[in-house]
Amino acid sequence: MGFIPEEIIAQVLERSGIVETISGYIPLKRAGRNFKANCPFHNERTPSFVVNSDKQIFHCFGCGVGGNVITFVMQQERLEFPEAVRLLAQKAGIAIPVSDASGSKSTNIKQSIYAVNDASANFYHQILISDKDPAARQAREYLRNRGITLEMVQKFRIGFALDQWESLISFLRKEEVSLKIMEQAGLIVVKENRDGFYDRFRNRIMFPIFNVQNQCFGFGARTMKDGLAKYINSPETPVYTKGNHLYGFHLSKDAVVRLDSVIVVEGYLDFIMPFQAGVENIVASLGTALTVEQIRLLRRYTKNVIMLFDSDQAGQSATVRSLDLLLEEGMNVKVATLTSGDDPDSFVRKFGAEAFQEKIRQAQSFFDFKLNQLILKHDAKTIEGRAQISMEVLPMINKFHNAVIKFGYLRQLADRLLLPEQVLAVELQKISSGVQKNNPPQSTVDVVMAQPPQSLTAVLNGGVRAAEYHILRLVLDAVDLIPATKDEVDLNDFQDEHIRIIMQKIFELFDKGVEVNFQNLTSCFKDPRILQNISQLMVLDDFPIADKIKMHRDCINRLKLERIKSQRKGLVDQIRHAEISGDHNRVDELKEKFNQLIKG
Ligand SMILES: [Zn+2]
Repeated sequence: MGFIPEEIIAQVLERSGIVETISGYIPLKRAGRNFKANCPFHNERTPSFVVNSDKQIFHCFGCGVGGNVITFVMQQERLEFPEAVRLLAQKAGIAIPVSDASGSKSTNIKQSIYAVNDASANFYHQILISDKDPAARQAREYLRNRGITLEMVQKFRIGFALDQWESLISFLRKEEVSLKIMEQAGLIVVKENRDGFYDRFRNRIMFPIFNVQNQCFGFGARTMKDGLAKYINSPETPVYTKGNHLYGFHLSKDAVVRLDSVIVVEGYLDFIMPFQAGVENIVASLGTALTVEQIRLLRRYTKNVIMLFDSDQAGQSATVRSLDLLLEEGMNVKVATLTSGDDPDSFVRKFGAEAFQEKIRQAQSFFDFKLNQLILKHDAKTIEGRAQISMEVLPMINKFHNAVIKFGYLRQLADRLLLPEQVLAVELQKISSGVQKNNPPQSTVDVVMAQPPQSLTAVLNGGVRAAEYHILRLVLDAVDLIPATKDEVDLNDFQDEHIRIIMQKIFELFDKGVEVNFQNLTSCFKDPRILQNISQLMVLDDFPIADKIKMHRDCINRLKLERIKSQRKGLVDQIRHAEISGDHNRVDELKEKFNQLIKG
């Protein structure tokens, strides 16, 4: 993956509508000339994330993130610039020429791993469905007995790894894949005597795992034999970090947005059986508890989570405790429980999809669920038991942001424990005053990105930087002001580094005869902080000042005045130095300059 030519980047920007692209990730609501949404990059309850279709820009007034469609994809998919351009180019059907110029090395490796994983997934899948190998036939039989249709096998590209040491290796060698990439992808393992490699996955049903962009980043491999580890998984690789992904989400994310809720189950088959039966808004965590990364990934699509447990699991306090994370991340959590001994897979096979949906509808609020668990665990009839329960429930109530909800739960708790509300309220007060001191900010955005852009701070502080900022806005709003700006101010007059860089680009585009608009301007920059500065300008409403020319003149004068002030100060310093060193000629010379400056 090499250098992407500028005209391709411009094409990608032109053909990837920002509203269409972003609404593929989060639901956008029209608000006047803009679109609004809850920001996917920080936790918020009222939307401060704005998308402007005319200017092809987004900006969040909450956390300050903003830019063009490429910036959005970079942030949302956690991609490097060229990766994001490639993804958008692919969607828009734009071919990117392969170039020999060196691109980012880590990007190269990642793309190679996705490619080799994809080829391996197809290889395993072909073995399973081609009906040639007896063991593969047995695997198909096994899946059929579990009730999994051929359609699902194809949809999830389920495969089979033969019971051979070098089956995948020899296939991939024929495809000219290097052993190094196979090893980096975690598909092969070095022999103990260090003399060569062997296939990691053997005699197992293969579940490829895809990210939301449909790229295969790893595998879960299930044995059909007793006595072996039921599943072995891909090791961590440059494209796979444990606990960062959700199984099946690439196929269910649209339904999750449409239904504005997601059902979370644990394993591959727990996912596939309900999905096959028509429950589309579902994901598998592939672990007992959701991680912060998984929750934040879900939160970009919905805030409503239904955790599904079988009744054995429900009692496991480690799992239950991990649910607290969901509340901390601002999610609305419900808990559904299945009949004793059943997991989602067996439940759907036995009772069908409708019964499953009924269990989902009956999901309890997380609060009721947890309270019931605690009442089973501690004896609510004794004083000690009641104290214990309230000590565990109150911190949870405290995590709710809404005071009405807090009060509602407090009342419920008081009812269940037969205690006066006031007593519990006093205890809750103690907890909340202790907790607020170290409430960490919740943001998935890098620290650099979360800080308000420099020039915004400048504007808030007023002063000369406000004038710089207004000039930038004015020339973008009315390009006929560019020549006068170029004539009268020097780039060095702009003290704000970002504004200076942006102005320089504007002058360059203008000199080249390129139309100065937001799209052409944003395509010149890759630095997210600069794009943020631009996006913040673009989502503002139309310029409120009727007389743009007068405002422009005032701001230019302000910059000029500032220039004279700083020159004057420089001269005064020089004069002082010359006086100290006794250089009278120099003093006279400088004083003359000073007088000129005042007159000018
Ligand atoms: Zn935000």
